Amino acid sequence: MKQQNIYIRLLKLLAPFKWWILLAVFLGFATISSSIGLMATASYIIASAALHPQLGSLFVPITGVRFFGISRGVFRYAERIVSHNTTFKLLARIRVWFYEKLEPLAPAKLQKYKSGDLMSRIIADVETLDHFYVNVVAPPLVAGAIAAGMFVFLWSFSIKLAIAFLIMFAIAAIAAPWFASWLSRGQGKKIVNTRSELNIALIDGIQGLADLIAFGQEEKHKTLIDQLNKKLSFTELKMAWINALNNGLQVLLANLALVVVLAVAIPLVNDQLLKGVTLAVLAMGTLAAFEATQNLPRAFQYLEKTGQAAKRLFEIVDSRPDIAEPTRSLQPQNFEINITNLTFSYPDNGTKVLDNISLLAPEGKKIAIVGPSGAGKSTIFNLLLRFWDYEQGSIKIGNVELKNIGSEQVKEYYAVVTQNTYLFNSTIRENLLLAKPDATDDQIKTALEQAQIFDFITRLPQGLDTYIGDQGMNLSGGERQRLAIARALLKNAPILLLDEATANLDPITETEIMKTLLEIMQDKTTIMITHRLVGMEHMDQIYVLHEGKIMEKGKHHDLVKNNGIYAKMWHLQQEILLMTQ
Ligand code: ADP
Repeated sequence: MKQQNIYIRLLKLLAPFKWWILLAVFLGFATISSSIGLMATASYIIASAALHPQLGSLFVPITGVRFFGISRGVFRYAERIVSHNTTFKLLARIRVWFYEKLEPLAPAKLQKYKSGDLMSRIIADVETLDHFYVNVVAPPLVAGAIAAGMFVFLWSFSIKLAIAFLIMFAIAAIAAPWFASWLSRGQGKKIVNTRSELNIALIDGIQGLADLIAFGQEEKHKTLIDQLNKKLSFTELKMAWINALNNGLQVLLANLALVVVLAVAIPLVNDQLLKGVTLAVLAMGTLAAFEATQNLPRAFQYLEKTGQAAKRLFEIVDSRPDIAEPTRSLQPQNFEINITNLTFSYPDNGTKVLDNISLLAPEGKKIAIVGPSGAGKSTIFNLLLRFWDYEQGSIKIGNVELKNIGSEQVKEYYAVVTQNTYLFNSTIRENLLLAKPDATDDQIKTALEQAQIFDFITRLPQGLDTYIGDQGMNLSGGERQRLAIARALLKNAPILLLDEATANLDPITETEIMKTLLEIMQDKTTIMITHRLVGMEHMDQIYVLHEGKIMEKGKHHDLVKNNGIYAKMWHLQQEILLMTQ
């Protein structure tokens, strides 16, 4: 994406706030104008005092000093309020806008990004963008308005003065910031990227802490974080040096401008074209006008930084979801799932993960898809959930092609329980309400009873309001799974998708949870995928998937008799179970 386009798109994001921004710019202009007025009237009084005038003749300038002294403070206050208010509104809008674009991309388009990188984009890059308005857009507008105002003001005395001022102003407003940005080129980009790398390393380190310690790699990881930290501090220090240089340069240029204006004005006084008192007014007014250029070097610096942050955001925003939404979402009449001749490979890798598979899950029946790890079982769920779109073959729910059901709509039809259902670091109640935000306490109770975890929860001192820790770590594996089941039950969706729902549990808990699951499967279309053959005798149909192909299908007893892959898996599992007893 071209850099210019990025800025145009950023400006478009500002569009809804244009009146607020103009108001803030006007208030900024009014503040600096008041400073100029204050300096000009004050120096007029002091210069005139030398000539011992009647006090009455100074009445207007004295009122002017009072007025500008107060208005300067009031305008500055109003400008700060309006510009901060605008910035926060803008940030809120960017966050929502970014999240809305991000959500449909999950999980297909986000798997190539690390979670630390995504977090860095959502938090740090969005925050960097607040500088775009405060430090990039507003200061040049204010400076432009002040330059124009002062030009006209000085012209009323002499065009020479106006031109001399404009040249000095342009040096301070354009040449000096350009020089600063030349000195700091590449640094803004480096800061944004290094900060993201640091975030990735930190989050990876926290998430994988136990493994890092187990493999004695914590020192190595710490060194990596240290290095990134140093790199970031070094770049920021360099920026600080350049900023300091800038500030000095701006003060120097403002005072030089004062000297230049005096140099032009003194001959005019000598030629009786200007009054002597005006000299002080012009000189001090000029000095005050340079307040408008003070922030411009930062504007140039932030231009690069905000550009880089915006580029990283647009990169995600511009990704198209892998699935095409139908123009009108159709409603299935029943919840039979019928897959025919389905072939699928993931977009970034050409191998066929599913190869011409057909399977039928009649409404209200229970089917199992079994097979070794990597056979393609979860991929079937990924397609059913519309995370990816399929090209060849067909998936129908109640005779409606899945592609004709909107991706949001289709998720309403499923309750999903996986081996690592995500539980939030919140209370049991909050975690359950995720499935049905308006669930009543009675509905929650029924779901918990069906998942056979109600008694356990009532025994907890805080009951439903107990905090369950990060990813539900305060609960045992079995309790977590029961909570996940209760959540799925609360959703009360017609189709139940179970993805290795009992895989992480010990054999006794596994059998118990399976019993619970079998009870709740009544009347729901259920597809269960598993590599462990538990509860298979209750399934209406079992499909054996191997390397993306359906190799066998039938009921448990027939498949065991058949002596095929399923029978081998079954016998192997029995032997292992015997060994572990
Ligand atoms: P199973 O659930 O039977 O263990 P999966 O459906 O998860 O199998 O995986 C089948 C194959 O598809 C594997 O070779 C795996 O590497 C590949 N695969 C799974 N998920 C993705 C993905 N998101 N992107 C690319 N390839 C994937």
